[in-house]
Amino acid sequence: MLEVYPVLCRPDYMDNYAYIIIDTISQTAAVIDPSEATPVIKKCDDLGIKPQYILNTHHHFDHVDGNIELKNKYNAQIVCNSADIHRIKGADIGLEAGKTFSLGKSVAEIIDVSAHTIGHILYYFKSDKILFTGDTLFNLCIGGIFEGTAEQMFAALQKIKSLPDDTLFYPGHEYTMGGAGFAYNYNHGNEDIQKYLTKARDRLASGLPVAPMSLGEEKKCNPYLEVNTLTEFKSL
Ligand code: ZN
Ligand code: FE
Repeated sequence: MLEVYPVLCRPDYMDNYAYIIIDTISQTAAVIDPSEATPVIKKCDDLGIKPQYILNTHHHFDHVDGNIELKNKYNAQIVCNSADIHRIKGADIGLEAGKTFSLGKSVAEIIDVSAHTIGHILYYFKSDKILFTGDTLFNLCIGGIFEGTAEQMFAALQKIKSLPDDTLFYPGHEYTMGGAGFAYNYNHGNEDIQKYLTKARDRLASGLPVAPMSLGEEKKCNPYLEVNTLTEFKSL
């Protein structure tokens, strides 16, 4: 079983989420996308764990800037797409899309979603029904296309859409309310988006992340997942 602990980073600036994940059977821990080290270290102390791995979804500074400090403190290994090894400082292990990464007994499938950046990957823990989407899929919106094309982003989103509805996903930023107005209008304020937004606001009001939402909820409410053709996608 996999436990997931979100850590809000750069709260006054970019609202990144790093995630501490623990394979409960082996008690092996990792940190996903540490935007900065300090809040991650604090959470590791609270949990009484030492991460053995640092997993990156992509090379942007707001996902890797905590890497080296955490690597040095915990003697952890930095793991990323093999295609990004040349541009993520201190990277130790390169992953191939279509292959897997094992955190103790928990196994992540590595899915290439090149578009936000070329080499952006998702970590999909299939048996735990947990997906880390980095800057590709956010709640009610998607990441910008910095290095790829609209075609590549559309293809990436189709890969996510093909995963089961009961998959819980964890994005790289708290951007829900930024996409809320557009999603509300796009869905004509229907019951699904109303339910989604009620849940999102309740969680935020309690000081919690909106994540995790299920892919099923997202497929009904996120305009970028709702469209079925590239033409519709480009018109959003
Ligand atoms: Zn990014
Ligand atoms: Fe980012």
